[in-house]
Amino acid sequence: MRIVFMGPPGAGKGTQAALLSKELGIPHISTGDIFRANVSEGTPLGKEAQAFMDAGEYVPDGVTNSMVRDRLTHDDARPGFILDGYPRTVEQVAELDAMLRSAGTALDRVIELTVDVDVVVGRLVKRSADQGRSDDTEDVLRRRLEVYAEQTAPLIEVYLDRELLIQVDGLGDIAAVTAAILIAVSV
Ligand code: ADP
Repeated sequence: MRIVFMGPPGAGKGTQAALLSKELGIPHISTGDIFRANVSEGTPLGKEAQAFMDAGEYVPDGVTNSMVRDRLTHDDARPGFILDGYPRTVEQVAELDAMLRSAGTALDRVIELTVDVDVVVGRLVKRSADQGRSDDTEDVLRRRLEVYAEQTAPLIEVYLDRELLIQVDGLGDIAAVTAAILIAVSV
């Protein structure tokens, strides 16, 4: 299965994608996690990405696309994958389409975790206190939600038109959301 997870910051994509990855035995590929690992290792990619991330902006498409293109060629991603945080722009959708086309594959599902903005802000403020992520401060957080609304929310329409999108309420407890996602990927 080739699955994309969508939803605003704080929707619980990372948590649910990790659980689903275990359940289905396919890798969880989080662009945010890959960027953060590169930032903490001080790689050239990390140095390039950090200022954008800290400002709540998207890393430029060229950088992100080539990183994902490389990751998807790894052996573990051949049987399937869960992409978490990619694609996030219209250009990334086109790039992902091209990557999959050249591999002779296609997406099976796009899962959108829907959440209320106030709930999301509460979750992220808590995550900031727990994990100290430098992009979880309130100003940056507000900017990340704006960027999502401007650049990523339009993708929902694209995947609805392709009949790939399944919307799952992200507001229940973790197990209830996982159960709903498992139903969504099995229909
Ligand atoms: P969240 O979903 O909470 O915003 P992520 O961990 O998915 O957090 O992403 C953190 C940051 O990494 C983003 O704000 C952005 O700067 C960068 N990033 C992650 N994925 C992408 C992407 N597909 N395109 C551009 N930037 C990205």
